[in-house]
Amino acid sequence: MIKFLDLQKINSQYEQELKEAANRVIDSGWYLMGKELETFEENYASFCGTKYALGVANGLDALRLIFKAYIELGLMKKGDEVVVPANTYIASVLAISDNDLIPVFVEPNSQTYNLDSNKIEAAVTSKTKAVLTVHLYGQNSVDQQMIDVCAKHNLKLVEDGAQSHGALWNGKASGNLGDAAGHSFYPGKNLGALGDAGAVTTNDKELTKTIEALRNYGSHKKYENIYQGLNSRLDEIQAAFLNVKLKYIQNDINARRLVANYYLANINNPEIALPQVLSEEGHVWHLFVIRTKKRVELQKHLVEKGIQTLIHYPIPPHRQKAYREYNSFNFPITEQIHAEVLSLPISAVMEEDEMVNVVREINNFNA
Ligand SMILES: *Cc1c(COP(=O)(O)O)cnc(C)c1O
Repeated sequence: MIKFLDLQKINSQYEQELKEAANRVIDSGWYLMGKELETFEENYASFCGTKYALGVANGLDALRLIFKAYIELGLMKKGDEVVVPANTYIASVLAISDNDLIPVFVEPNSQTYNLDSNKIEAAVTSKTKAVLTVHLYGQNSVDQQMIDVCAKHNLKLVEDGAQSHGALWNGKASGNLGDAAGHSFYPGKNLGALGDAGAVTTNDKELTKTIEALRNYGSHKKYENIYQGLNSRLDEIQAAFLNVKLKYIQNDINARRLVANYYLANINNPEIALPQVLSEEGHVWHLFVIRTKKRVELQKHLVEKGIQTLIHYPIPPHRQKAYREYNSFNFPITEQIHAEVLSLPISAVMEEDEMVNVVREINNFNA
């Protein structure tokens, strides 16, 4: 059986170091807001090239806290609009609506699956305050046109970097391409904790100070609350695990690129559309997503051959019950992507014979 993702195998590579890290935290008697977090924040800011990184409880909170902080700073208010790609994981949209901001869905580019910069300006109104761009599947989504539109209309550019740790654009890392970025370290992400974890990165000192308080009940000083904050702290034990795993993230990216390049070079079934790669350094292959009109049949064929695949994602946010108010909207490119995508197994611990097997079975597929 070729698993879609073998987390046990991924983390067992670092078993000794992870156990030492856990022991260190257990023995310290200090479990929140301590040295492990401080070290991780320094390490992760340095990895992204930003001045600041703040650990938070998860990736959704990272994004929520960015918008909440902009509201506290008086830069946004209830009812303001945020442009967001129509095809994304629901967390991107929740971060907006949870702050009583309005998501304005914009279609992606049909080849990269990322927000189409050509279509942003038409969606901008007097209420638009930000663009939340998602580096979907691990591919950078920022380009000069996006930056120019944001500058022209005075919009904050916020990155959803949940899937793109280490992706580069013009030599700069994901997380350092806009005004602020949210990152997720959910176990299955390229940089994964052994539980929930997330971070905000930015070069904005005011924003950092505000989020520092907001993640901890709105308080800088114990029992003095200046905002109605959240409890969204990154546990010491998770920070300790992340300090171990961050050391190996570049190996992980390199290994994923090997698998992706093998798939790109060898999958040649005319029923399958391969993902478009804008640049090698811009894609870290959180997911390797193909498209086919025969998804049901292909997925069934692969299961029969012992190959597990997943769909990211089967239902777009505007068609979810949670967003009934948008259910009647039509986004044909987004809907087609959701109807056709299929994610193949990819990870740093994939064996060569597994890659060969996946390609062979995809090329053998004949619906
Ligand atoms: C995983 C993910 C999130 C949310 O991260 P959590 O840590 O699970 O809260 C947000 N956006 C995207 C695109 C994601 O893939």
